[in-house]
Amino acid sequence: MKTTAHPEAFHSRPATEIAGQLGVDPQQGLSTEEAEARLERFGPNAVTAPSGPGPLLRLLRQFHDPLIYVLILAGVVTAAFGGYVDAGVIGGVVVLNAVIGFVQESRAQRALEALSRMVPLEAIVLRDGALRRIPAVRLVPGDVVELAAGDRVPADVRLTDVRLAEVDESALTGESVPVLKSADAVVEEAVVADRTGCAYSGTLVTRGWARAVVTATGGATELGDIQHLVATAEVVATPLTRKLARFSRQLSVAIVAVAVAAFALGVFRGTPVPEMFTAVVALAVGAIPEGLPAAVAIVLAIGVVRMSRRGAIVRNLPAVETLGGTTVICTDKTGTLTQNRMTVTAFAVAGRVVSPAEARECLVAGVLCNDARIGEGDPTEIALLESALAAGLDPEAIRAAAPRTETVPFESENRMMTTVHGAVGYLKGAVEEVAARCADESTPDGVRPLDAAALDRVHRELTGRGLRVLAFARFTPGSAPTLLGLQAMHDPPRPEAVAAVAACRSAGIDVKMITGDHAGTARAIAAAVGLVDTPSAARVLTGAELTELPEAEFDDAVAATQVFARVSPGQKLQLVRALQRRGHVVAMTGDGVNDAPALRRADIGVAMGRNGTDAARQAADMVLTDDDFASIEAAVREGRSVFDNLRKFIAWTLPANIGEGMVVLVAIVLGATLPIVPVQILWINMTTAVFLGLTMAFEPTEAGIMGRPPRPPKRPLFTAALLRRVVLVSLLLVVAAFAAYRAELAAGLSLAEARTSAINVFVGVQAAYLLSCRSLDRPVLLAWPGRSRMFALGVGLTAGLQLLLTYVPVMNTWFHTAPVGVRSWLWVLGAAVVAFAVVEADKLIWHRVAARRGISSGREGGALRAR
Ligand code: ATP
Repeated sequence: MKTTAHPEAFHSRPATEIAGQLGVDPQQGLSTEEAEARLERFGPNAVTAPSGPGPLLRLLRQFHDPLIYVLILAGVVTAAFGGYVDAGVIGGVVVLNAVIGFVQESRAQRALEALSRMVPLEAIVLRDGALRRIPAVRLVPGDVVELAAGDRVPADVRLTDVRLAEVDESALTGESVPVLKSADAVVEEAVVADRTGCAYSGTLVTRGWARAVVTATGGATELGDIQHLVATAEVVATPLTRKLARFSRQLSVAIVAVAVAAFALGVFRGTPVPEMFTAVVALAVGAIPEGLPAAVAIVLAIGVVRMSRRGAIVRNLPAVETLGGTTVICTDKTGTLTQNRMTVTAFAVAGRVVSPAEARECLVAGVLCNDARIGEGDPTEIALLESALAAGLDPEAIRAAAPRTETVPFESENRMMTTVHGAVGYLKGAVEEVAARCADESTPDGVRPLDAAALDRVHRELTGRGLRVLAFARFTPGSAPTLLGLQAMHDPPRPEAVAAVAACRSAGIDVKMITGDHAGTARAIAAAVGLVDTPSAARVLTGAELTELPEAEFDDAVAATQVFARVSPGQKLQLVRALQRRGHVVAMTGDGVNDAPALRRADIGVAMGRNGTDAARQAADMVLTDDDFASIEAAVREGRSVFDNLRKFIAWTLPANIGEGMVVLVAIVLGATLPIVPVQILWINMTTAVFLGLTMAFEPTEAGIMGRPPRPPKRPLFTAALLRRVVLVSLLLVVAAFAAYRAELAAGLSLAEARTSAINVFVGVQAAYLLSCRSLDRPVLLAWPGRSRMFALGVGLTAGLQLLLTYVPVMNTWFHTAPVGVRSWLWVLGAAVVAFAVVEADKLIWHRVAARRGISSGREGGALRAR
């Protein structure tokens, strides 16, 4: 559906004509009523995400799996030989498996979709003659919008008024060089990339400013067209999930090979083919960890949800994994470590700290060379207005008396802002920048040549107190400025940031501050938030010093420095690269357009949700809803927790699966009767994977998680310690099941009763081991992770299901089980306790060994826990 009034060439006709055609006065914008009416008519300005396959198709897709094919075949074969009950059970398992897969997939997908919508997007629009900020989804064709550097173009537009605007259209055209825009029409045949008079939804304004009329919204935009074409469902995949998927494929192949061999052996020994067939299918189904990729996706999705509750919105899933391995966080100062609530607390004139009354001219300059209004604008500039008010001046009157005729806006590159008010101009900005342009300074006794030494002294004193210092100068156009004085402002540290910095330091994560502010201020704030113990302990490098550094020393110097001051955005990229060359996993914050390359390059690019630009948010892996450093720390904590829980799940599920397969395999190899028959294996597989295994995804974060060093970036998922544990527990499971089975038979119980005991023992040991998995390498009762409702619920449900299996007659018929007595349950209890004790003892022994090895080799090795 095209939602434009006339979908024809907007690019080849003059902008005024387009405005007329769209029924809007470019000076007034649409009226609110008209905009509402158009919103009704054209719908919201949102590209509906390609919906992907429908639910039915997604459900059917769950059956598309070699393993399921084999199961279905097994069911058919079983039925053909008259085993209708078994066939029915197998059919039930197949359906249940699909439903579980479907529910899991939908859950993970929904969680992620909801999050991607949370990244805010707004547009500045002219309505009823006034500029206002509205959610971009409410834009309609005909709206007049303003675009500035850093904004994402919110809809397709025809530019009407352009000041040096450049737009990065790579999202649309693939062209990486930004395009210079103008309001002029181009030839009718021009392709999208050449239509300089138009700008398109989803592209980024990298420079300048423009005003434009919206020509198309939502699905009618060029971007909408493309998205409909691509229409790919987002895949929930990360390097880790891919690695795991590959692992489970390889494992499956190996298991199938073993199953085929077992089949041949059994048939050779004279077991009937159909019976043997069902047995090896049970072996394969039991042993293959089908649920692994889905479970991993769930663990990651839960991590994403938990992070969002802590103020960190993850934009792409791999970031969840990477976050836990972060070794360095490079953070902004203003607004992230500090509150960005500025108050002017000191003034200096002629090299001396003075009272506000003596700094009157400075205050006037602060009012005029200023874009803010009380309560609205840049906090630095608001502080200047408030300081003038506090000193008894009237900002409104001052501004009315000297209307502004020209502006050179503030940019973080030159750290200065200039305004001209007819015959007089003002300059404000970083002290070095302003002072470098002044030959004279104003003093209480009139103008005299600038005393640079005195200025430097007082500047150092003020920055040493952690104050942000701005210099002010006045000039008559055409001649050199005269320095008027300094205003110094206080920006209190965020209390949460102080705690978060401390947590990061104890977690072995290096926190570095990167700021545009002065070295002295940065040093003092670094000490105030606990980045270093005292201001003098901070190693500081300025942007200028960075450029001077010889290449050979660069990486070492960067790694050893805590504070980078007066740094330009371009240098942030150099810093990220240097740290990555040293093997670090780097999280880097940024808010401006120029920060985008560094954010993209960083392992975790972190953008600000409140004060950042769209450009930064788009380049980032994570967006902080509150701009707070503490949210980064919380996200790292969650990232570590996610990785822990993944390891816990894997450590639990692999022995469970292998044990299930081995019970069958061992019986075949020994030529013994099966202690657990195929449908029973399927039962165990289905119930425990869901009700026991998945509880690990909800495990609470371990208490000491931020007290240990980051995991080495290259550490593999499957360590030797994990493999040892898998082998140990698989053996425990098999031995316990066989022992119970044999003992019960020997005690004179029927086959069905003995098998029921074996199943219950098997599940009991699985549950005991699950408890053990709650802490991977420390005895769980010593390193008690706290109560977990999910764990209790899972174990409770599993116990309930086993009781049903044992005592409900229908279940007895379907699953060939029989009610058992107290002794049988004592077996379950005993086996569970013994297995638990063995695994815990194993942990203790290996923890000792690992610790001893760690002391001799300088680092801890062999421990199972993911670091
Ligand atoms: P961070 O990167 O930690 O956010 P920051 O916000 O202090 O650092 P910038 O905003 O780039 O960095 O400011 C750098 C310097 O530019 C400040 O120290 C100040 O001297 C000057 N400055 C900041 N805001 C203005 C402004 N509105 N007008 C003039 N100069 C300014």
